[in-house]
Amino acid sequence: MSEHHSKNSALPFLRNGGEAAEQIATFNWHANVLGVPHTWPLQLKQQTGIMLNTPSPMMICWGKDLIQLYNDAFRPILGRNKHPKALGSPVYETYAEAWDVLKPLFEKVMNGEAVAFQDFKLKLDRNGYEEDVYFDFSYSPITDEEMNIHGVLVICNETTKKVLSLQEIHQTNKKITSSNDELVTSNEQLSSSQSNLRKIVYELAESEHRVRAIVENAPFPIGVYMGRELRIAFANQAIIDVFGKGQNVIGREYRDLLPELADQAIFTQLDNVYTSGKPFHARNQQVDLVVDGQPRTYYFNYSFTALTDQEGKIYGVMNTAADVTDAVLAKQQVEESSDELAALNEELAASNEELQAINDQLANTNDELNESRQRFEKANEELAASASRLRMAIESTNLGTWEYIPPTGELYWSKELRDIYGIPDDEPATIETFSAHIHPDDYEWVQEQIAGAMQPDSGGKYDLTYRIIRFDNEQMRWIKVQGTVYFDETQATRFIGTAFDITEIKEAEEKTAKLAAIVASSDDAIVSKTFDSVITSWNTSAERIFGFTAEEMIGETIYKIIPPDRYEEEPIILGRLKGGERVQHFETKRLTKDGRLIDVSVTVSPVKDAEGNIIGLSKIARDITERKLDETRKNDFIGMVSHELKTPLTSLSAILQVAKVKLNDTDDTFLSGAMQKANQQVRRMTTMINGFLNISRLESGKILIEKQLFDLQMLILDVADEMKVANTTHTINVDDCRAVEVNADQDKIQSVISNLISNAIKYSANGTNIKIACQRDDNEIIVSVQDEGIGIHPADAERIFDRYYRVESNDTRHISGFGIGLYLSAEIIERHGGRVWLESEVGKGSTFYFSLPL
Ligand code: ADP
Repeated sequence: MSEHHSKNSALPFLRNGGEAAEQIATFNWHANVLGVPHTWPLQLKQQTGIMLNTPSPMMICWGKDLIQLYNDAFRPILGRNKHPKALGSPVYETYAEAWDVLKPLFEKVMNGEAVAFQDFKLKLDRNGYEEDVYFDFSYSPITDEEMNIHGVLVICNETTKKVLSLQEIHQTNKKITSSNDELVTSNEQLSSSQSNLRKIVYELAESEHRVRAIVENAPFPIGVYMGRELRIAFANQAIIDVFGKGQNVIGREYRDLLPELADQAIFTQLDNVYTSGKPFHARNQQVDLVVDGQPRTYYFNYSFTALTDQEGKIYGVMNTAADVTDAVLAKQQVEESSDELAALNEELAASNEELQAINDQLANTNDELNESRQRFEKANEELAASASRLRMAIESTNLGTWEYIPPTGELYWSKELRDIYGIPDDEPATIETFSAHIHPDDYEWVQEQIAGAMQPDSGGKYDLTYRIIRFDNEQMRWIKVQGTVYFDETQATRFIGTAFDITEIKEAEEKTAKLAAIVASSDDAIVSKTFDSVITSWNTSAERIFGFTAEEMIGETIYKIIPPDRYEEEPIILGRLKGGERVQHFETKRLTKDGRLIDVSVTVSPVKDAEGNIIGLSKIARDITERKLDETRKNDFIGMVSHELKTPLTSLSAILQVAKVKLNDTDDTFLSGAMQKANQQVRRMTTMINGFLNISRLESGKILIEKQLFDLQMLILDVADEMKVANTTHTINVDDCRAVEVNADQDKIQSVISNLISNAIKYSANGTNIKIACQRDDNEIIVSVQDEGIGIHPADAERIFDRYYRVESNDTRHISGFGIGLYLSAEIIERHGGRVWLESEVGKGSTFYFSLPL
């Protein structure tokens, strides 16, 4: 210490310089570019003296390296990181972290320019971490008498605290401004919410009134049950009727009132809705109730919806239902309306959300507003209740509603009612337009009913079904209208109700009635049955034809009237029907109650539900016993006549043969020509009579196939040669037929081939070609006869192998025949296990084919 003193006293400029002076005095300057203090230049000594005696923070940076000296006041600016290291060190080392900012300033000063700044920001590491610090400072050059610059004098004042607090004030100011703005906005929002809400509350009161009337008059059941014990708080007439437990249901517990539901799912569903708050919907659900002491089965579409207070707490369950027991036919209509309902529900959901939002806003607003908030919440609660009621009123129906104020003549129609009437949205509905659209036939009595309902002593109930004429397309529709008239002391003041379009139901009823009448009056037996062959209906004619009454047959199987040897027919018929086919004019035999076998022609068709699913079978059976008997008698007669004709015809033919031989020598050309023709006619007649004989044999089962092995090629060539000799009008060719042995009735196959060739000749123009061809594989041989004739229309082709079937056209009118050749040919081939078919194009020609198994 004494040494310091002696040094200080040796260096007068350090005198009274405080701790900084002590530090300079004791610093080891020998190793420093500045050298020891007493050798320092005069300017440095003088400036240092001034600096050490100044109470403001000051620093000198001397020489090219800007070596630092500083006073006591400067120490806090350096912090513990930079002091005491800074003394004697170059300034760029001490302020390395800020040198990029400071360097240009020092350069400026070393070039003779002084610089000064206020609240200048620097990032400095003073205490072991980087911080933003602010300074007011000035840098000025230190010169000698010749104005050479040797260093920089730094005077500075730290302003960090000031700047930071200013910043804070600024921030706070900004916040205050924005809170002010917010306050203004929320005030504005609040007042607009208030007016919205007032409007809603007002509208609600209106709609509440209307809704209550609608709900009470609604023709479908609505009930509201409170608390977990489900105490009935509201029930309209429709649900009271469904309960079937008398009028006094309000206040009773649901489970006590309807004990018959105990083992059905409903109690659980209600309980779940009450617990979870999730709505429950059921469609076409069977519900067994006891109505007025009688068990009854209903089908309902119903919903249970939780009712919640403004805190979201469940306090009850609403029950709406639609009795769909009779309404399967109206199902489609209801489906159409479901879109509309979804839209309505969405609207409701949206308005609920809006209200929720308003409610939230209200909750957030200042307490001064408490009182009005309570009012709003109450209104909100009312709205929620009304919305629920409205929802249940319109759920699962497209019910129209209306309201008529007799004293003023005002009439209000809901959107649904407008749709029912087809009246455009912008056209006013007045009592006059309403009257004008009642169907003329119903006009008078409907007016009477309206007038009657509005008489104060009438009881005020109104329930009519009548026809209207729609506005848009003048279509006639059936509507069911129900309503209630309200009175003051003297007159009707309000007439309110619902309307429902029941045209489809009406039409279905009428259709069913018509069909039932047709079925009842038909001459044919009409029977319906399930796929298990169980009979479900049996008309009067079925009773008459089969002798069994409906009571005896319904519930029995159809096998009761099928003869045992025909049992296998039933599964075959069912199989074809399941494949979507209809079985038409199937001729078979059935048993009557008194054991007779009768001939019937049966047509069976699938019965489909509205979705096209096959749900059963309808069967029409016609008694054809008489027709069959007629046919047998006719066949017998033809057979007998043909047989009787055959003998004289054979003698006639023999006589003609002999006469022809005798005439061979004569020159009388007329006689020989006539004889030729007579022979031809007799041959035709013989063929015809043989045909008839064959038919009657075939029908009575007397035709016999006598098989033998023979070469089919030979037979074809023989028949063709014979035909060629007899018919010179056409060119007949046999193509590509090789020797092939078949086992068949040679005479009958011969008649098939000659029949096909004669037809080819008969039904094609002279000069055309006829081609006979064969085609064989391992299993069968196919013979074809092709012509270039008139061809056959596809509709005729289907029936051409039927007995007595002939094509009626200008081309065929003059060609004689009975329509039995192809029938016989087909029978013969089928009895050989073969097939017959044809290909043909009208105007181009036909090809007939038959096959024989090998
Ligand atoms: P028919 O010739 O005696 O009337 P078919 O049973 O042989 O009796 O023939 C039935 C019907 O089929 C004929 O009336 C005719 O209309 C038609 N038909 C038969 N063969 C041919 C054919 N090759 N070309 C056109 N039509 C034909």
